Amino acid sequence: TLYRVVCTPVGDATRAGVMASFEDVTSIETAGQMRRDFVANVSHELRTPLTALIGFIDTLRGPARNDAAARDRFLITMEREAERMNRLVNDLLSLSQVETEERIRPTDLQDVPALVDSVCHNLRPLSDDMQVALEVIPNVTLPKVLGDGDQLRQVFVNLIENAMKYGRDGGRVTIAFEVINRDPILAGPAVAIIVKDYGPGIDSIHIHRLTERFYRADDHRSQQLGGTGLGLAIVKHILNRHRGRLKIESKVGEGSCFAVLLPQPPQAG
Ligand code: ADP
Repeated sequence: TLYRVVCTPVGDATRAGVMASFEDVTSIETAGQMRRDFVANVSHELRTPLTALIGFIDTLRGPARNDAAARDRFLITMEREAERMNRLVNDLLSLSQVETEERIRPTDLQDVPALVDSVCHNLRPLSDDMQVALEVIPNVTLPKVLGDGDQLRQVFVNLIENAMKYGRDGGRVTIAFEVINRDPILAGPAVAIIVKDYGPGIDSIHIHRLTERFYRADDHRSQQLGGTGLGLAIVKHILNRHRGRLKIESKVGEGSCFAVLLPQPPQAG
């Protein structure tokens, strides 16, 4: 615990003294430290592509000036770096927006399997491209939940894209649903949307940290795949807003399972 000592002069002309009081500033200090870490992380993440871009511009002006083949190659890399920065800025804006809205409870009823179907429809070209079979298993009828449609869509995009990216070798990603009578952590009835891949899996030491901003289980692989390290942090904040939660299970060598749990709305009447 961190204390700040506040000294206040007390007394009168005959007797003077100082009153010391102790103020608990732990949470203020922790918040300050988190903000400083975040700024340092963002700067670092932006600097990597920026440094590459500056280097390529220099080379294009100098040694590669008259080399058309090199120029084309460099432009492709520069485009990739610029796209990485673009994704990072977009994810930072999403994160900031979902954090701002975290206290506003969603009021619309959403048909979750319909949202999942439409997300999968949009991701179909990507899954075809990656040669990953994307399969929705309509195993149960889910009750509607209170939610923000765009945000829930974002949750499913992030989880399904991750499953395809990291689990690509497994060749398939499945999405199934479950009705839960009582989730012990949400303390009530819930629905679950389970995104499963058959890829390399995640070592258990990483699992509880995956929703931290910029935390990556495999730094190199995430960078290579163009990840920003913010996808699961965005998911966590959106689920907080929905009073839901993310449950991650994984076995190295077998694959991973990311389950979204959302509370069932109270029964009418
Ligand atoms: P990123 O942009 O790096 O993908 P995320 O926040 O979406 O960031 O994910 C954080 C990390 O979690 C990833 O870098 C990766 O190491 C790990 N991860 C997420 N989903 C999976 C998955 N389906 N299989 C294996 N690892 C995963």
